[in-house]
Amino acid sequence: MFADAEPDISGSSPTFDALGLSEHVLRAIMEIGYKKPLQVQVECFAPAKAGRNLVVQSRTGSGKTAAFVLPILHRIDYSNSSPQVVVVVPTRELALQVHGEFERLGRYTGLKSVCIYGGTGFGEQFNRLMAGVHVIVGTPGRLLDHYRRGNFRTDQVHAIVLDEADEMLNMGFKEDIDVILADTPDAIQRILFSATLSAGILELTDR
Ligand code: AMP
Repeated sequence: MFADAEPDISGSSPTFDALGLSEHVLRAIMEIGYKKPLQVQVECFAPAKAGRNLVVQSRTGSGKTAAFVLPILHRIDYSNSSPQVVVVVPTRELALQVHGEFERLGRYTGLKSVCIYGGTGFGEQFNRLMAGVHVIVGTPGRLLDHYRRGNFRTDQVHAIVLDEADEMLNMGFKEDIDVILADTPDAIQRILFSATLSAGILELTDR
């Protein structure tokens, strides 16, 4: 399916080794105790690693977070401290959970990341952004607030992930998401995760 050599994950139960992850990520996985990649992780890894756009229907509990965190960790240029990936999530709780998964799986990679959500910690988030990050995980309103104040650059961003996109639409974030998508270049990778594929989600994926 892809021009470059892809790892052999054709067997029925592939291992993390077979995905072709870096030794830093494999070490973190071993420490966390994940034995094998879950189905959504296997199915997403090669296309996401190749930079393709993805629409994934997947529920919380399926292992969907690591399904985008693993290929993203693989694609980051750790020598460049400009934001390269933006992950947009509906709630503070999910922001913390997704950010935690980046920190756990990326702990030996040199990953620098920030978790951004409303109601608290603007100055701390600002300082972290100024110090340089590879990945920004955040809720739409506060993310746009920092973006509009020029607190982070987007010229090096190569991927944007919308996680639990159906929840974001349900919570009234459509306008914010439209602004975020309109302000990021068409050429970047777009990954959308949603538990349901409602009419609103299909309209979003059409774009
Ligand atoms: P999620 O759907 O991303 O919220 O993940 C649900 C739970 O599955 C979380 O507690 C993860 O830590 C766990 N998990 C993710 N990937 C794996 C794996 N490959 N093996 C075992 N547990 C996992």
